[in-house]
Amino acid sequence: MGKHVLVVDNDRVCVELLGDILGQEGYEVCKAYDGMEAMESLARDLPDVIFLDIIMPRIDGDLVFQYIRANPRTARIPVVILSGILVEDRENLLAMGADAYVAKGPKDSLRRNVLAILRRLESGQPPARGEVLGLDNLVPREKVKELLAVRHSRHAILEAIGEGVIEVDRRRRITSVNRAGLEILGRAELDVIGGTVTEVLTPEYRGTLEDAVVRFEAGERPAVDGMAVRYRDTVLRLGFAWMAPGDRSQGFFLILRNVTDLVQKIEELSGLNARLREMDRVRSEFLTMVSHDLHTPLTAIKGSLDVLLHEGVGVELGRELLGIAQKNTDRLFRLVSDILDLARIESGRFSMRREPFDVALGLRGAMDRLHRIAEEKQVELSLEAPEDLPLVSADGLRMDQVFTNLLSNAVKFTPSGGWVKVTVRGLATELLVDVQDSGVGIPGEHLDRVFDRFYRVPLPAGAEVEGTGLGLSICKTVLEEHGGRIWVRSAVGQGSTFSFTIPTIASVA
Ligand code: ADP
Repeated sequence: MGKHVLVVDNDRVCVELLGDILGQEGYEVCKAYDGMEAMESLARDLPDVIFLDIIMPRIDGDLVFQYIRANPRTARIPVVILSGILVEDRENLLAMGADAYVAKGPKDSLRRNVLAILRRLESGQPPARGEVLGLDNLVPREKVKELLAVRHSRHAILEAIGEGVIEVDRRRRITSVNRAGLEILGRAELDVIGGTVTEVLTPEYRGTLEDAVVRFEAGERPAVDGMAVRYRDTVLRLGFAWMAPGDRSQGFFLILRNVTDLVQKIEELSGLNARLREMDRVRSEFLTMVSHDLHTPLTAIKGSLDVLLHEGVGVELGRELLGIAQKNTDRLFRLVSDILDLARIESGRFSMRREPFDVALGLRGAMDRLHRIAEEKQVELSLEAPEDLPLVSADGLRMDQVFTNLLSNAVKFTPSGGWVKVTVRGLATELLVDVQDSGVGIPGEHLDRVFDRFYRVPLPAGAEVEGTGLGLSICKTVLEEHGGRIWVRSAVGQGSTFSFTIPTIASVA
């Protein structure tokens, strides 16, 4: 046994007394007046034996003991628990498993017991498990028992609550962390104890935390603060409270509340709210647009019929008026069909038949139907498709609807002199169709949305293009029902390419 002892006790009289006893025996005594000082002292130099009190401010003796045993440098140093509560709290203290136990008592018996313990440790015959020296003549004190009960229940409460509670001394050092706090921090207790509170989070929050601590200490904020920080994958709300409001030298609590779920829910809800609002906006725009789109052709039809009903309308004018009425009836018909399709999609009644279908033939048919409009507009239509393309299994009418929609959009949004080129290619299990135009293009910020219901890219003031904003969303539903996909690439002023795939019969079978 060497001659170097560490005595840890917040009771200065006791430390001095023990210092004298050990000094007279030739020991070199190092003194620590609380748990924090003990840990600092152990980090500096290693004693041959440690006398450790249990109840101390700034890190209890049992935590210092855990630290000693957990640290390979100190794990083998004999620890003698020297406590004034051994009569009242014997079972708990023995459960710690220290090397020896001495109850604090009158000076003479203390000297006798301390020296006896030292001799037994030196001779390599430490006291038996469960043996406590100095208990004779001591009787349990009711007041101490009561205080210990308060202390145990305080500990039990701290361990049971869901919030992380970190106790911080007046020098901002962490003296204890409850179970929830360790879970939130994802760190081991002995890793955190003794560290500076502002360093308890990841380094990037050092400044923020320091700021909050300074503000709290300056009394700038109410006792419980609402600051939130991101720590690893969580969002923590930080709170502060003085341990003893009338005595700041006792230090404070830093309270950590994991509000990740709450923040996630709030983000989800506000996202949902924004979407609902957007849907609402789009719907009311749609109503305005539909009423306008219904009104305009109806007015034209009514106007034509009114004039026709007057006597004396010549054959030529009559034909012209009927032409106007027919064109507008077609327009109304398209609008109503789109709306009916939408209603069917929304109610889940959008069923599709399946039959062998020739995509190239279907595209050619749709182009023929648009031929006249394209010619009038001087937009050149062309189709490039290999001869021996496999068939697909599809609802022919719905496919025609998709082709017509994409082609009429391409023609609609391509100025005179431009072109629309359709290319079909056979891939391993599907056909890939590109409908490319040299038209106005779609600004990047709208690309994601053109397949949304009712969505139409805003036109320059004064420009008007007929449409409901439903065509592409119907195309998307039809293609997806067939196991295909649709997407668009576009650049303003350079045209757009709508591409879609549809599985071939062989791959579906
Ligand atoms: P609409 O009935 O308005 O044509 P769609 O759903 O078919 O409805 O198209 C939605 C919007 O997408 C159109 O209003 C238009 O702004 C844009 N769009 C569709 N096709 C093209 C295209 N080929 N070129 C430029 N813009 C297009």
